[in-house]
Amino acid sequence: MRPAEETLEELHVKGFTTALAALALGIASLTTGAMAQSKGTVGIAMPTKSSARWIADGDNMVKVFKEKGYGTDLQYAEDDIPNQLAQIEGMITKNVKVLVIAAIDGTTLTAALQKAKDKGIKVIAYDRLIRGSENVDYYATFDNFQVGVLQAQTLEKALGLKDGKGPFNIELFAGSPDDNNAGFFFNGAMSVLKPYIDSGKLVVRSKQTAFDKVATLRWDGAVAQARMDTILSGFYGKDAKVNAVLSPYDGLSMGIISSLKAVGYGTKDQPLPFVSGQDAEVPSVKSIIKGEQYSTIFKDTRELAKVTANMVDAVLSGKQPEVNDTKTYDNGKKVVPSYLLKPVSVDASNWKEILVGSGYYTEDKLK
Ligand code: BGC
Repeated sequence: MRPAEETLEELHVKGFTTALAALALGIASLTTGAMAQSKGTVGIAMPTKSSARWIADGDNMVKVFKEKGYGTDLQYAEDDIPNQLAQIEGMITKNVKVLVIAAIDGTTLTAALQKAKDKGIKVIAYDRLIRGSENVDYYATFDNFQVGVLQAQTLEKALGLKDGKGPFNIELFAGSPDDNNAGFFFNGAMSVLKPYIDSGKLVVRSKQTAFDKVATLRWDGAVAQARMDTILSGFYGKDAKVNAVLSPYDGLSMGIISSLKAVGYGTKDQPLPFVSGQDAEVPSVKSIIKGEQYSTIFKDTRELAKVTANMVDAVLSGKQPEVNDTKTYDNGKKVVPSYLLKPVSVDASNWKEILVGSGYYTEDKLK
């Protein structure tokens, strides 16, 4: 008896209907599996797993691309530039259809992106613009200038600056100088804060106000903490307290708060200054709920994944992806057509509504 006949006979024995249903299911899943590959593979290069936001970005993209019928090759470079370059070159060798890249330092990718172009591989800059290359097709991100505006506005509100209160002491932090976003965040924030600094309502005792003085290489919380230590011991003491700190990212905010606590801030007599942040990472949301960090900026990575997947789909089917900004993001070689999503500020008054209400976190996760 041939195996097929054997199987059929067995089917009769075990109950034909059930077996047929199982068979149908098997065929269905085979078809889905095949479909997942049928549109090809998308290479996703992410900067680091050291920050929860990039893990969420990667996971969300894998999910959305799978739903759309793509395979994915997701890789993290642990903030190591040569590592990310090697990962991207590997993806190009493997002939991915599209590269989605959140660059550590985009300017190091020019030669690799030329190779991608030569092979017809499209490139989408993800969250961070890739500078210095013509071969960046589209950019999916949030309104980065607005992120900075919102960060500063939370401090403006907390201090009552609009009501004429002050003067207050503030210190400023920016992100990694090789990340194009860092300048946008800082310029956005300074568009709100500078008039108060100029009028004397905000005082930067350290006098460190230029981007290159306040930038934090690789967005490293330990670097921010060390800089805050130096600022506190050099410019503050019994007679002068810090009232606010502009921090561009939750990982830095946590370092800054540790530094402040180490010299006695965080008590009734000496409250913590208002500290901003970004990404609504769990430790920072918990800190906001506890009344330590003042604010953060929520950027819904689920939405960014969707926008990116739609761009990929359009690009691969020869259509124009939807963009809503064709002016802002000049990478030094071209203005990259972009889709900008809206960031949202979060503080003790609205974290539940924004973060739990949208289903981004469960309330349990924030306890
Ligand atoms: C992202 C931010 C993030 C920062 C550090 C930036 O490029 O836009 O959301 O806080 O990198 O990871």
